[in-house]
Amino acid sequence: MQTPPVLQPDHAFHTLLDHYKKASLRTSGIWLLLANLSFVLFLFGRHQFRVLLDPHADVAVSGPVLDKLALIFLVFIILLLPVLRFIRSRTPAMVLAFLVGLYWAVVFHYMLTSDTQQQLVFPLFCMLIFTALIALYPTMPILYSFTLPLWFSLFFHLILLKADIPVLEIVAMIVASALFETARIMLSRWFVLSVRRECDNQLLVSKLDNLAHYDPLTGVANRRQLDKQLQQLIAQTERQGGIFSLIMIDVDYFKKYNDHYGHQAGDNCLVDIAKCFRQVVRQPADLVARYGGEEFVILLHSAAATDAEVVAQRIRQSVAQAAIPHALSQVADTVTVSQGIMQWSPGMTSLELLQRADSALYDAKHAGRNGYCVGQ
Ligand code: GH3
Ligand code: MG
Ligand code: MG
Repeated sequence: MQTPPVLQPDHAFHTLLDHYKKASLRTSGIWLLLANLSFVLFLFGRHQFRVLLDPHADVAVSGPVLDKLALIFLVFIILLLPVLRFIRSRTPAMVLAFLVGLYWAVVFHYMLTSDTQQQLVFPLFCMLIFTALIALYPTMPILYSFTLPLWFSLFFHLILLKADIPVLEIVAMIVASALFETARIMLSRWFVLSVRRECDNQLLVSKLDNLAHYDPLTGVANRRQLDKQLQQLIAQTERQGGIFSLIMIDVDYFKKYNDHYGHQAGDNCLVDIAKCFRQVVRQPADLVARYGGEEFVILLHSAAATDAEVVAQRIRQSVAQAAIPHALSQVADTVTVSQGIMQWSPGMTSLELLQRADSALYDAKHAGRNGYCVGQ
């Protein structure tokens, strides 16, 4: 909550792309397995589809081997289901996709070497590669792990195992493959484009969030963020019990600093001072905020006034070490700060807490500056 989140556009885009690829794989991977399962069930029930297929095909002759292959796949899926949710990274998903692709390659091999089943192969091949495309188009390596065994199996049979090269079948395969590849390119372009848009939107929201909650000069939280967090912390501490404290800090003789060194140098001084504050608090639990002008507030979670005093001493030290020259200061040669500490007590509103810290700061100014006072 302390430092503005810095999103690097390219890094954010690749992280988001990776996230959506994994997310799509989680849902569509299961869908693809179920689609494969339905194709296997179709193999089982092919005797019933004879009107749709070739009514003269003698499925009974070559049936038992296909049935066994279908059964193997069913057992494989049933064994796989319980471990499916553990497959989150790319390599195991590729291995699984390759195994399923290999299974179909074996089925095709069997169908093509048994004359009676050949008419099923090409429609089944098309259905398999296009359902795989729908499910896996964002993750090309996994998609190819699935489809390559199918392609090799068919081309191997068409080119090497046939006595006469079947030109028409090869042309049909090439057309189907070209359709597949162009559709894949089209779909993945849409996918990347939509992730890019989502990323741009997130970056825009993050920029607006920074503008709304952080001080543009020093990078620490702004007054709005301080008010919000203070209200939340009071409500939470009222509810759950506990303690917290607040330090209000003001740069000493800052008007003189501006007059002597110029407004730009004054700005740089505020940036350096804010850096000192950030270095001494616990990140990200505690909050450093620019309250206004050259005044800052630090919210210290789970800290009593005595703990806040230790932080106040560290702040004094850190600002002294920064050694920013201040020729017109009446308390030191370098820039110093005064601090007012106030511990919250039950029933105290944020306004009251800030007012009491402010009057403790006033006391510190009157006590000679470059120090702190604890409010009551
Ligand atoms: P004191 O020790 O009593 O706090 O004296 P001071 O001069 O610091 O007090 P005062 O409140 O009179 O002066 C604060 C000055 O801080 C006035 C203003 O010009 C300057 N200031 C406020 N905001 C900024 C800023 O963003 N940049 C710069 N350079 N100066 C600022
Ligand atoms: Mg002031
Ligand atoms: Mg001042």
